[in-house]
Amino acid sequence: MEKIKMKTPLVEMDGDEMTRILWRMIKEKLIEPFVELKTEYYDLGLLHRNETKDQVTVDAANATKKYGVAVKCATITPNKQRMEEYPELTEMWKSPNGTIRAIMDGTVFRAPILIDSIRPAVRNWKKPITLARHAYGDVYRCVEMHTDVAGEATLTFKGDDGSEKTLLVQRVEGGAVWQGAHNKDSSIRSFAKSCFQYAIDTKQSLWFSTKDTISKVYDGRFKEIFEEEFENYKAEFEKLGLEYFYTLIDDAVARVIRSEGGFIWACKNYDGDVMSDMVSTAFGSLAMMTSVLVSPDGNYEYEAAHGTVTRHYYKYLKGEETSTNPMATIFAWTGALRKRGEMDGIEELQIFADKLENACFKTLADGYMTKDLTLLAEEGFEVRAVNSGEFLDIIADNLIKTL
Ligand code: NAP
Ligand code: MG
Repeated sequence: MEKIKMKTPLVEMDGDEMTRILWRMIKEKLIEPFVELKTEYYDLGLLHRNETKDQVTVDAANATKKYGVAVKCATITPNKQRMEEYPELTEMWKSPNGTIRAIMDGTVFRAPILIDSIRPAVRNWKKPITLARHAYGDVYRCVEMHTDVAGEATLTFKGDDGSEKTLLVQRVEGGAVWQGAHNKDSSIRSFAKSCFQYAIDTKQSLWFSTKDTISKVYDGRFKEIFEEEFENYKAEFEKLGLEYFYTLIDDAVARVIRSEGGFIWACKNYDGDVMSDMVSTAFGSLAMMTSVLVSPDGNYEYEAAHGTVTRHYYKYLKGEETSTNPMATIFAWTGALRKRGEMDGIEELQIFADKLENACFKTLADGYMTKDLTLLAEEGFEVRAVNSGEFLDIIADNLIKTL
């Protein structure tokens, strides 16, 4: 069989620990035998980030802006414990995902991979629910204080043009807590654009929810910017038969639970933090969660939603067998290859991505699964637990049969 040719390289961001091991296996077993893989490789492994003083992360993000599509392996975000584990680290480098997101100015969309043998906790969910979380500001960039005497707090804005606005927050007679939060029109607008763009890309309707009945100015501004931006996408939505609708967050929660899924739910930063955990848990497993960062100007970075699976890596290092689930990482590759195929007009690449995903579904439907999934499978469904390598080999066999 002749290998599928690519035009533009994919930006490939390698990562850490168990996912780095899976990364190599996925490429060797599922991609390189079939595709003449063209990538621009960036090693985002922790030690290489350290050697380059994290420049490699910045370069990888800029390459994504240049080429339009990237695929990323999970990476370690160093903390105090990691500084002890890796004494050669010269700094507690920031989260690569945070750095990339800031450079691409993007929004992260997370969606579960659904299979018949694992039913969502919510009975009527039949299609994936994609959660889009605004990743800037609000309580995540606020200032807070506690005071313990009577008094009052005011909120003052000083414009560079000399203008000034002051509001009384509250007068209190005793101890109190205070919080000053903000968001930026530009960030909300990028968020809105990414959401509308991704809805069109994936042909799914978009729901957006805040609490603008209570927060008339702050949340009201989110609603207003989304409405303004929607004007630019309306025609395309109509053409595709998609819907954009805004509703209050509490109403959205009720509707989401009663829905059958198959739409994108855009949330403010805090709501998105909480709701994405609720939605992903109800769908089953973090190991089956895909994630894509979409920039407002239409660049894409695909990854798995889970981390580097450290516990399994240490077992692997000891030579023990591991049954780590590679599904989300495989789907990061298929997402990226399909998007590359779309952008470059290479149909075979898009078909290959579909076939590889189908080979994964066939493998799972036949009962072959990694251990994390065997525990979740519905009663009566016959499962055969396999290790990561065996799982990939069976997928490869199934793939070859369809090519
Ligand atoms: P994690 O790597 O997601 O793993 C937590 C646990 O979830 C694992 O120990 C495992 O449970 C289960 N799990 C996750 N993915 C799995 C898979 N593919 N197959 C089977 N089981 C899976 O989270 P963490 O241990 O909190 O974080 C480890 C490192 O990842 C940290 O250094 C963190 O900075 C990094 N991280 C990176 C990203 C990213 O790059 N996007 C995201 C999150 C975390 P059992 O142990 O019970 O088997
Ligand atoms: Mg959270």
